[in-house]
Amino acid sequence: MINHKGISTRCVWAGEEDRVAGAPTQVPVVHSVAFGYRDVEHWRDAALGRACGHIYGRNTNPTVSALEEKVRLLENAEAATSAATGMAAISSVLFALLSPGDRVVSVKDTYGGTNVVFREFLSRFGIHSTLCDTTDHESIEAEIAKGCKALYLESPTNPTIKVVDIGRLAAAGRSSGALVVVDNTFATPVNQNPLELGAHLVVHSATKYLSGHADALGGLICGDKELVEQVYHYREINGTALDPMSAYLILRGIKTLSLRIERQNDSALKIAQFLEGRPEIGRVFYPGLASDPGHAIAKRQMRGFGGMLSFKLQEDSLEAVSRFLPALKLAHMAANLGSVETIAGPPATTSHVECTAEERAAMGVPEGLVRYSVGVEDAQDLMDDLAQALEAG
Ligand SMILES: *Cc1c(COP(=O)(O)O)cnc(C)c1O
Repeated sequence: MINHKGISTRCVWAGEEDRVAGAPTQVPVVHSVAFGYRDVEHWRDAALGRACGHIYGRNTNPTVSALEEKVRLLENAEAATSAATGMAAISSVLFALLSPGDRVVSVKDTYGGTNVVFREFLSRFGIHSTLCDTTDHESIEAEIAKGCKALYLESPTNPTIKVVDIGRLAAAGRSSGALVVVDNTFATPVNQNPLELGAHLVVHSATKYLSGHADALGGLICGDKELVEQVYHYREINGTALDPMSAYLILRGIKTLSLRIERQNDSALKIAQFLEGRPEIGRVFYPGLASDPGHAIAKRQMRGFGGMLSFKLQEDSLEAVSRFLPALKLAHMAANLGSVETIAGPPATTSHVECTAEERAAMGVPEGLVRYSVGVEDAQDLMDDLAQALEAG
């Protein structure tokens, strides 16, 4: 029933509807490694999945299950499971579903860690990855048509906020028999639902917007039941379980997800428009701007353009960024994103820390780029802060 309700109602209630009289109104944090049984037959049935009941914390936990159910309902998925971090979720998907000899088609602008899994780890197991130019849809379709086991996408991307046409590429992937996986971390289920656009699986770094307070690491995987079960089985054995305290913090964070994203969508657009008019700025990257190359696709597939933007200083150098960033008073200079506080940083210390300056240039990531994760502060205060920092530089 909850899935017929609005997104804000679902953020608050999904996965938490079954309240017993006198029970806590909030999901309890269950710090127990194991769950006990007096009846061996019941224990065995629970262990084999024939009866309800948790067995061991590396497999399932009641707090973690409540979070999985909430995210499942927000993504309108058949099933959901979780992992200790976003990267644990992503590598569990890839290692659970791919085998030696398989081929993956993806894009160059995936999250840095994901890129390393493709280039460094999957290749050691004889799994070849073809990483295409992120916005060249024809060449991605051509690579898909050559045959692949999985199509792995991310939209919008990091740090130049490129937009990929998920519906178009998912259709191409499905018609070639590929599993379609989408990292929905930047958009969140408030702005975009990749399963409705044709993906089989959605992954999230819950560390970012879902948690929203930069105080917990976590990852979520949702989608087709059969695939989620395979990923769950790999994750339980590989041992990257999400811990119950983090699950609780993420679950509490999601209650305000829709409020936060609404504010961040609005503020990011205002700030992007403000920066576009400033002489100190070379270029603004934000799909909400009519001038942005991803605008038309984003308008079709997203309900809001998100809280992430980036901009290139007129003086395109890391030195200029190094002078500008410390002048910001209302931003943490840090590697994460998606929090209630504004966060800013250069790709050289955040998304593209593993690359050399030459590699960043080849990937189209300018040295004078600032990635700016808009928080929930007053937009006017953020614009005033950006203005004084630009004037100081
Ligand atoms: C941060 C991030 C990840 C990795 O998440 P962790 O929780 O840090 O492991 C994956 N994808 C995207 C898009 C991210 O921003």
